[in-house]
Amino acid sequence: MTNETSFYDKLMKDFDNKLTHSGVNGNRMAERLDELSAIGFTDLGGVKRPGYSDEEKRAKTLVKKWMTEAGLTVTEDGAGNVTGRLDGQNNDAKPIASGSHLDSVLNGGHFDGPLGVLSTLEVVESWKETNYTPEKPFEMIIFSDEEGSRFNSGLTGSRAMTGTVSDAEQESLRDYNGETLEQVLEHYGSSLEAFNQAKRDVSELELFVEVHIEQGLKLEQADQPVGIVSGIAGPAWLEIEFTGKAGHAGNTPMIGRKDPLVAAGEFVHKVPEFPGQFSDTAVATVGKLDVSPNGINVIPEKVTLHVDVRDIQETTRNELLDRLVQEANAIAERHGVQVTSKQNTDVAPVPIPEKFQDMLAASLEKHDIAPIRIPSGAGHDAMILGRTIPVAMLFVRSKDGISHNPAEWSSLNDCVMGVHVLKDFIEQAMNQ
Ligand SMILES: [Zn+2]
Repeated sequence: MTNETSFYDKLMKDFDNKLTHSGVNGNRMAERLDELSAIGFTDLGGVKRPGYSDEEKRAKTLVKKWMTEAGLTVTEDGAGNVTGRLDGQNNDAKPIASGSHLDSVLNGGHFDGPLGVLSTLEVVESWKETNYTPEKPFEMIIFSDEEGSRFNSGLTGSRAMTGTVSDAEQESLRDYNGETLEQVLEHYGSSLEAFNQAKRDVSELELFVEVHIEQGLKLEQADQPVGIVSGIAGPAWLEIEFTGKAGHAGNTPMIGRKDPLVAAGEFVHKVPEFPGQFSDTAVATVGKLDVSPNGINVIPEKVTLHVDVRDIQETTRNELLDRLVQEANAIAERHGVQVTSKQNTDVAPVPIPEKFQDMLAASLEKHDIAPIRIPSGAGHDAMILGRTIPVAMLFVRSKDGISHNPAEWSSLNDCVMGVHVLKDFIEQAMNQ
């Protein structure tokens, strides 16, 4: 660590103390963000807390202590997910749940995950301070290994909880040291058997709500601290393969060539035209090209393009996929090359019920915040739970949209405003 201003001082520097009210305490939140930032702090000022690492475990141990002090009954399952329960006035009612994760990418920021965890905890603290007992039971959940930096396959904790990590995946996972899931779990203090016992009937929860940094620019552009997530986009990966005729770059005349890379280039150029034709939340990206044989003096034989297509509605996303395939076929025909296409990954988008978006809008308006609705392009634990139960999400403004980077930043004012909105939303849900 350097002698620069501490993380705590940076958080408190512009904090508006008037935001500390109704049992929500900005200073406590800054102290806790600061304590967590020190666990796995990197030379570059970021954080390294991969799933199932000692650092992630220490972070969870610390937060478990705070949870217990706040009055929650805390348990941890065999997949490392931590749950803290608070009884309500009517314990026959389904609990309302909220939380996020404490693991990070290998040199990540201090808000992605911890903000959602500490926002939930701060709501519980506020209830304790104001002697408020919610109508229904409440659960605070910390999911393990969300980011996927351990195994290159994320959302492990929430998927274990919903019983959706297949046996085949459990066998094939290898972490960055080449260790199997079983070995990693044993080092962590669990076992594969306990991991599988982490499965619970998630439908016993009424709803799950997650606060997360936006990781985008919409709130900053709109000058608003907090926004409503309108849906969580699921990626579909399209693999398009153009096959032509290889030849010597010097001896093959330009006329009559069947160059698949020229066709691929035209396709890449056309892709940005299409998403907006289907919805204003759709995106499509060519992120990877495989050129074969990939020699400087060889007309390629084959080019494979990998396209990531996302939207928060499955119908428009699938229409966009069809349109891209149609375009690839038309381009191939014009260039006299062959084309095949196949879809590899298909993660269904998760809608956020309109009712919850409206409730969040009401909470935002109470705090004079314009209710901006933003699609989430990235996956979150809420996406996994959203396959079984209704979910809601709130985004907190991210400076310059930066995340997965030590420069990740959300002002304490925005973070605390997020807590007030979360608290209001949960209390609305408790009373209906
Ligand atoms: Zn996250």
